[in-house]
Amino acid sequence: MRDTLIPLLYLAAGALFVFGLRGITHPRTARRGLLFAVLGMAAAVAGTLINRGIVDYRWMAIAAAVGALIGAAMAKFMPMTAMPERIALSHAFGALAAGLVGTAEYYERADGLGVFIAAALMLEVLLAFLTFTGSLMAFGKLKGILPGRPTVFPGQQPLNLAVFAAAAAIAAVLVASPGTTGLYPALIALSALFGVLLVVPIGGADMPTVISLLNSYAGLSGAAMGFVLGNNALIIAGALDGASGFLLSVIMSRAMNRSFHNVLFGAFGQSDATAASTGAVEERPVRSATYDEAAMLLETARDVIVVPGYGLAVAQAQHRVKEVGDLLEARGARVRYAIHPVAGRMPGHMNVLLAEADVPYDRIVDMDDINSDFAQADVALVVGANDVTNPAARTQADSPIYGMPVLDVAAARTVMVIKRGMSAGFAGVENELYYLDKTLMLFGDAKDVASGLARQLEGARV
Ligand code: NDP
Repeated sequence: MRDTLIPLLYLAAGALFVFGLRGITHPRTARRGLLFAVLGMAAAVAGTLINRGIVDYRWMAIAAAVGALIGAAMAKFMPMTAMPERIALSHAFGALAAGLVGTAEYYERADGLGVFIAAALMLEVLLAFLTFTGSLMAFGKLKGILPGRPTVFPGQQPLNLAVFAAAAAIAAVLVASPGTTGLYPALIALSALFGVLLVVPIGGADMPTVISLLNSYAGLSGAAMGFVLGNNALIIAGALDGASGFLLSVIMSRAMNRSFHNVLFGAFGQSDATAASTGAVEERPVRSATYDEAAMLLETARDVIVVPGYGLAVAQAQHRVKEVGDLLEARGARVRYAIHPVAGRMPGHMNVLLAEADVPYDRIVDMDDINSDFAQADVALVVGANDVTNPAARTQADSPIYGMPVLDVAAARTVMVIKRGMSAGFAGVENELYYLDKTLMLFGDAKDVASGLARQLEGARV
């Protein structure tokens, strides 16, 4: 009975994971997709818990309780805007678990592994420990515990390659001669070192790509662990995780115009970081506007493109911004929302917030489809976005964000920017957009400013 039930539960888990992934490809079906994924995970856990190999449930119960407590606290108290840090930590812990399981298996079974399983185990451990340290580095950089700017030095790429090659060579020796357990700690140390070296040269704006790559490594490590343990659910889940993370990194590095080869070997975001603001920011005049002035301009606009960014998420301004959009539409304007692939702090961040505010999906347009329309727009209303609008990405070869495609906001007839002050965005670079003659700054918290604009527009309607 048990021997039939376990594979059935694992099969159900695999199918539910596939349906889950399918579901989360669209906001309309995302909730259902997540429910499938949760059910899939429940089936996989149930299948594992009824395994004959488990002789004592006590330690597992304690670990599950502690893990559930930490997970629930993280879900409850970490804000949406801290999602990348949370994801980086999850990858670190997931990878550490895979690495520890692999290590336990290695010392238990080193002599009788067979070539295929030994190779899978080495791959598991190598990917697990590099993901563990790489993800902790990413967490430290995102949280500001470590310097967020890229650290580059001569010979960095050859060094990274040499460390990786040494780890791979040790793995090969351990596969070929199973008894040489003394070399095993060196494999762990080199993998962990490679993880650090991989993330050291990554600058702020490129962090999302590296996090999704680490997601892929954690998944592949899990799949390899599935082969070592003979666990089909792990193989399926790990392969899905590995493949989707890998595809997302390719898509993101394309979106940011980065070479994927450099992402793999920790050599991107390497443009000279000296252009990043290092303190003394030149004081230059900008044009600021009152709600009244801004509302008057908006009232006459026929074509408005709203550009949401991280500040919209911080202020939770999506409902107020939607209200402004509705009021403008009621006056006959065409209002669309332009989405940059890395706006905010996680892929799809802006889509989630706008969907929450019930912005119709057909008004939400991806960067590639809307960029050529900015030239015909009367107003580009930038709400808490900075890096994703920075023309330096196109014009300044020494800028850390050079080469990243950006929203062509400066092409609009008038640019309105809502932000609290003149602080830089995530990448720490100044934005020339704010100093253009056509740009009006609306200083304040995005929610307050959007409420103020909505009041003015409503007042003008009655
Ligand atoms: P940025 O981080 O570049 O800029 C956000 C701006 O919002 C700041 O300049 C800030 O200026 C303003 N702001 C902050 N709080 C508020 C508030 N309450 N009200 C109004 N404005 C506010 O955001 P973007 O979305 O333009 O770019 C995203 C950046 O994050 C990119 O560099 C991207 O690479 C990176 N990133 C993206 C991830 C992803 O997956 N999407 C993950 C990790 C990083 P001020 O303080 O003056 O108000």
